[in-house]
Amino acid sequence: MRLARPLENLIDRLQKLPGIGPKTAQRLALFILKMPLDEARQLAQAIVAAREKVFPCSHCGFLTDEDPCIICRDTARDRTMLCMVADSSDIIALEKSGYHGQYYALNRNFNLMDDIDLGDINLKPLNQLLAQGNIKEVILAFNPDMDGEVLSRYLAATLNRQGIKVTRLAHGLPVGGDIEFADEITLRMAIEGRKECI
Ligand SMILES: [Zn+2]
Repeated sequence: MRLARPLENLIDRLQKLPGIGPKTAQRLALFILKMPLDEARQLAQAIVAAREKVFPCSHCGFLTDEDPCIICRDTARDRTMLCMVADSSDIIALEKSGYHGQYYALNRNFNLMDDIDLGDINLKPLNQLLAQGNIKEVILAFNPDMDGEVLSRYLAATLNRQGIKVTRLAHGLPVGGDIEFADEITLRMAIEGRKECI
């Protein structure tokens, strides 16, 4: 059975979103069809407005509609700490941790399998920030997987050469986790990040 073309089109578009399969796309499309026309219009306008007006901050990469972003404009922040992340969505997560320094998001996918040359990563805005001389410590906060590991080692070596103190997030076993089922990278990092019991 063929669906009405505009409905089919909506389902196709929704299906392109991450985590949305054909069934969910259909359910969402049917839900949207039952919305008051005004609400549906507002949803469509919100998507376009966000897409048009939100962009990465030229200093730190955080998503913003003003440049520099709210984090970079915040004078109460610790200007001696810089936390490097892969994606600006990581900044939203780290903000909840109580960290109150600056950030730098690479905003690009880094995948070992894609044969990406690490030297191609644009570190120019980062180097400009470091050249101001305020940053005393760079925290590398990349995902604890193989790609994050390679990226961390590369950046640590690059930053160390510039005489910057580089630290990494402690990685270890998740609360409620099971040593028996932990993968070897997690276990190695848990051992490396061990703390003295006092
Ligand atoms: Zn910023």
